[in-house]
Amino acid sequence: MKRVTVFGATGSVGQSALDLIGRDPEFYDVVALTGGRNVAQLAKDAVRFKSDVAITCYDDMAAELRDLLFGTGIKVASGDAAIAEAATRPADWTLSAIVGAAGLVPGLTALQQGNTLALANKESLVTAGPLLMQTAADHGATILPVDSEHSAIFQGLVGEDMAAVERIIITASGGAFRDWPLEKLATATLAQASSHPNWDMGQRITIDSASMFNKAMELVETKEFFGIDPAKIEVLVHRESLVHALVGFTDGALMAHVGPPDMRHAIGYALHWPDRGHVPVERLDLAKVGQLSFEAPDHTRFPALDLAADVMRTGGLSGAVFNAAKESALDGFIDGRIGFLDMSRVVAATIDKISASEGLQKAQIVLDDVLEIDALARVRADEVMRNIG
Ligand code: NAD
Ligand code: MG
Repeated sequence: MKRVTVFGATGSVGQSALDLIGRDPEFYDVVALTGGRNVAQLAKDAVRFKSDVAITCYDDMAAELRDLLFGTGIKVASGDAAIAEAATRPADWTLSAIVGAAGLVPGLTALQQGNTLALANKESLVTAGPLLMQTAADHGATILPVDSEHSAIFQGLVGEDMAAVERIIITASGGAFRDWPLEKLATATLAQASSHPNWDMGQRITIDSASMFNKAMELVETKEFFGIDPAKIEVLVHRESLVHALVGFTDGALMAHVGPPDMRHAIGYALHWPDRGHVPVERLDLAKVGQLSFEAPDHTRFPALDLAADVMRTGGLSGAVFNAAKESALDGFIDGRIGFLDMSRVVAATIDKISASEGLQKAQIVLDDVLEIDALARVRADEVMRNIG
């Protein structure tokens, strides 16, 4: 029996994970499931998987969740502290599929128990990569990447020596606006940005794909997770989303990971690691696929990529500022306070403002500083947005 906890169980990644777990229920013992406002889904899954505890991050949803689970014996809790507490419960495999920097503390807490953390929550690596990696090392914990590109790189590195890695290429579908000219991007609506050509994902990451902030985050994620020189990391636009990443070695070989755009692939790899299990994703018929296309990304239309390069160069607390400003700008776009192209302007201006007053280049970062700079960046980003709006 594998004891599993799923943070963000009601989301797109969380539901894909439960789909896999539900196919072999006799192998899994579900410890904790967490969610947000969709307490109906959370309660349904808690009952189905006989979870010990079900937690919503919103205190005002606790009563409804308690009603739904009345008489089941499943413990109900709410709030950030309860989610972090759930991370201290013994588990063999913990999936962090919360969206946003809210995933940082639960993930860190799981690592402090020496647990294996399957990490979809890229925001925590962008915000505090060195802290997460150090915490894992200090407690003998394992982090397994659950972003499709990073799972692909991880698989490409099995049995390899990092010293022989010359470059890492992460692919990008290009998002909803890959063919839109710059002038048109300024008019992009929320509905247009919320529809992805290849992947079915949560709304926030879908919009981040359209702005390429998702790829920008993934650049930082690659640097932090694999500890590789940023100069060796490249982005390649690949419309079909079948090749997820490539690892290039000193002998010129490129090892590509190819699979359908289905997150159950990356989740399944982490779930069965270090073995390979049976994962029910579509088997590709490459003769039917016929052709694969690759092109260079356009940094003029998608300035988020250059912002990521700056963040990787600066290191320290700059990732925390970048992520928090991006989350605020995304909120601003979703609420209609700013336009689509304003998002990268807000992030750039926030980083400029904060780096003028704070030293972001730190050799070592601690959680309190990360949380403080995260909060400050959100305040500054809101100020920038008020001036734009
Ligand atoms: P989603 O919006 O579908 O789900 C997010 C989950 O987090 C939900 O369960 C929600 O209730 C919970 N949540 C939201 N705010 C929270 C908070 N403040 N505190 C605690 N829980 C909170 O998101 P998703 O698309 O499943 O993405 C989850 C994470 O995985 C993100 O970090 C995303 O970047 C990453 N990721 C997603 C995909 C994908 O295909 N969806 C692919 C790669 C990486
Ligand atoms: Mg990805």
